[in-house]
Amino acid sequence: MKYSYFLILIVVFSSCKSHSEKNKFLKINSPDHHIQVIFSLNDKGQPEYRLTNKGNLLIDNSKLGYILKDDDDFSNAFEIESHSTSTFDEIWEPVVGQYKNIRNNYNQTNISLKEISGKKRTLELIFRVFNDGVGFRYKIPEQANVSQIEIKSEETQFNLADDFKSWWIPGDFNSYENIYNVTPVSQIDSANTPISFKTKDGIYLSIHEANLTDYSDMTLKNNTGGSLLECNLVPWPDGIKVKGQTPFESPWRTIQISDTAGGLIESSLILNLNEPNKIEDTSWIKPMKYTGIWWSVHLGFETFEIGPHHAGTTEKTKKIIDAASELGLTGVLVEGWNKGWDKRNKSDSIPDFLNSTDDYDLNYLVCYAKSKQVELIIHHETFGNIAHYEEFMEPSFKMIKELGLSSVKGGYAGDINPSNQFKHGQFMVRHYRKQLEMAAKYGIMLDIHEPIKQTGIRRTYPNFMTAEGVRGMEFAAWSEGNPPSHTVTIPFTRMLAGPVDYNAGIFDIKFKSLANKKFNWRNSKARYPKNPGPSVKTTLSKQLALHVVLFSPMQMSPDLPENYIGHPAFKFLQDVDVVWDDTRVLNAEIGEYITIARKGKDSPNWFIGSMTDENPRSFIINLSFLEAGQKYLATIYKDGDDAHWDTNPTSYEILQIEVSNKSILNIKLVAGGGQAISIIPIAL
Ligand code: CA
Repeated sequence: MKYSYFLILIVVFSSCKSHSEKNKFLKINSPDHHIQVIFSLNDKGQPEYRLTNKGNLLIDNSKLGYILKDDDDFSNAFEIESHSTSTFDEIWEPVVGQYKNIRNNYNQTNISLKEISGKKRTLELIFRVFNDGVGFRYKIPEQANVSQIEIKSEETQFNLADDFKSWWIPGDFNSYENIYNVTPVSQIDSANTPISFKTKDGIYLSIHEANLTDYSDMTLKNNTGGSLLECNLVPWPDGIKVKGQTPFESPWRTIQISDTAGGLIESSLILNLNEPNKIEDTSWIKPMKYTGIWWSVHLGFETFEIGPHHAGTTEKTKKIIDAASELGLTGVLVEGWNKGWDKRNKSDSIPDFLNSTDDYDLNYLVCYAKSKQVELIIHHETFGNIAHYEEFMEPSFKMIKELGLSSVKGGYAGDINPSNQFKHGQFMVRHYRKQLEMAAKYGIMLDIHEPIKQTGIRRTYPNFMTAEGVRGMEFAAWSEGNPPSHTVTIPFTRMLAGPVDYNAGIFDIKFKSLANKKFNWRNSKARYPKNPGPSVKTTLSKQLALHVVLFSPMQMSPDLPENYIGHPAFKFLQDVDVVWDDTRVLNAEIGEYITIARKGKDSPNWFIGSMTDENPRSFIINLSFLEAGQKYLATIYKDGDDAHWDTNPTSYEILQIEVSNKSILNIKLVAGGGQAISIIPIAL
């Protein structure tokens, strides 16, 4: 086993039956006693919780419970039957992650509630209180009078104590690819999670969920226009939200809490609320830097489908493999390698997961790539046709394994078929898990685009390397793009869920290479609004910094090879690691700026990424995290003095200086700018 436990301590220190009023309130403290959950039953016998941090109220009385099918109320008229408290402390080692080791330390209270009259059914609530937040979940144990569960509504509330500043995307049931809104809670209509907040006292919170298994995605709804957010699960076509049977458990509802914005990123709470690794031999799980046939199609001068401008041909793939080899990248993704793309907008679109197009020689290219120490990444674009994909999933994973390949990029562009299912409902949650388990069975790593949001399942299945589920770089090619503040917002929102395949690393920021490409299907076919022009909206140095800030064990360098080869700044993307032994957020404010230092996995090298929104900034940072007594060469990739994200994005400078743990660096960022630094030991 790759992971190991250094310390496990479980102490059950109380367990009791309740017979009186004295147990109407239960208090559960974090190990450091800063965070406290107060559980209670209200006058109607409905469970509620409240949450304080250092004595300050963050979440006021918030209701819990379920409404089952046919308005069967399973949220009221309870009494506490029993409760027990325990403490847990372990250190575990992720296969790939932000840290070498992760501490999982919490106090847990299990509360068993029983209906006072009627069917006298039992509902359990489990609270885990960590130093960095809280998780709670429902359990419906096996019992008489309950077997099939059909949930009409999960009644969970998050009654925020004040009208906190919030960073949120709409509670869309089919997509997470949106720009973040910044408003008080009272102006939220609906939201997807993770959603993050800042209190007037400068405390940061984020609401999300952990271990989303055989349940539907939790979105949040503001029904009052105040600061109360309520769980709104994505439904099945018949309106029921979740179907199951006893013993039944919900995902964990999570509330991360930190004194700093960066603390949200440094927290491992979501992973800690997932089950340990189920994959015994993890030797095949390898982080990867990749490039591929992708950006040219988004820019519009090549096509996914076969034809005169087909991108995924044998000849073009050979050229990309040659370039990857020259650039030191080990993966090559080819989108549009298989049959079926020509019908992709038709309702009967059936992508062929086993056969390549006639101009693509898969077997030859696998061998050719191998001879160059490069590996092909197979693309599975499902077009949302789930039944068809599930039929071919196993044979295709088997084929990939037989070809000696180890990774798949999945895509779910377009509407789901069956068409009455939402992309984030229980039906699709089941599908994405089936795919992940099948990939694990065949030793295949996954990078999923248009995924179900991540909830820490990668702890259990560490072959789940990365995912999109964000408004990523592709939007820069064919829309108005993402504003400079977007990339300094997603580290504190989307990235709290897990790794982000954002596809940063565009060097030709103003798309100059398009000038000598005659064909552009986006203009000629008008399938999208006419391309508004280059919309990358960062400086070149910020593109480099994104490779440090946005954690992704599979990290793409997406630009055309001609824009990388011979470019001095590409050295940073060659040197930078993609998985880490340590992560420190040196300074941060949500939506404004961030500086992260990360230490490479099993490596003495450190990398710093610093980025700003549309405002220029300067920082002083202290390198005290470096090893004492060691001298390092810092290579600094910075914005030119005259750089600007819009008017002069490609102005940059490279400097080299010697540094140690006593060094202080001045970092200057222009509007929409960034800085990337590699810090590599100098051999003594
Ligand atoms: Ca997408």
